[in-house]
Amino acid sequence: MSSASERREALKVVYEEARKCVRCPLHQTRTTVVFGNGSADAELMFVGEAPGANEDRMGLPFVGQAGKLLDKLLGEIGMERRDVFVCNVLKCRPPDNRDPHPNEIEACRDYLDRQIELIEPTIICTLGNFATKLLRGDTTGISRLHGREEERIIGPRAVRLYPLYHPAAALYTPATLAALRADFERIPQLLALGAPEQPAPVDPIPEPEESTLEEAIPAPDSPGEPQPVAQLGLF
Ligand code: URA
Repeated sequence: MSSASERREALKVVYEEARKCVRCPLHQTRTTVVFGNGSADAELMFVGEAPGANEDRMGLPFVGQAGKLLDKLLGEIGMERRDVFVCNVLKCRPPDNRDPHPNEIEACRDYLDRQIELIEPTIICTLGNFATKLLRGDTTGISRLHGREEERIIGPRAVRLYPLYHPAAALYTPATLAALRADFERIPQLLALGAPEQPAPVDPIPEPEESTLEEAIPAPDSPGEPQPVAQLGLF
């Protein structure tokens, strides 16, 4: 694969695309697209559900009470936000914090897939039901799955998928918080295992003949001003 800095640059391109996204009706009500933030080369990635009001305003994921708990739990295992990448299934806030709709999840899925492909995490912690069901591709709920890591192929890569309770669910329920904390405590052990064995690379598509290639390449666009990567906060 390409180098970490090439993947980081490619991630910025995906961000610029997401920033202008109109693939689902949520673009009409959002204030800001919340793409995600943290290390573009993180071993550990967290995927939540969708931005809430604070996130929508600030353009950053997990900045409210649930985010403070996420930071606390990370601190307890000797990590901080800049060590990980945090994002959501949906990049735009559903009005009134309602649950994501299937058409919104479907429209947004490609951004998450590209984030995973470019960041190349070893472990993906899905926070709560929506991320867990999406990345596992079935309907088994988080209370049965939390704390059980499994190897999964996501896009071109094998990752350790590690479902966790959503921090928001742990805010007011001590038993859920205890379970989330116990599951968090295992993250360093899982990181120490390293990446799972990767699938064999798919054969590249054969290069077209030179003459066909010339026809296929459109004339370059006039060079425009590069868009500023505001609010992404990549480390
Ligand atoms: N809950 C989420 O799932 N994501 C956020 O960014 C904030 C709260």
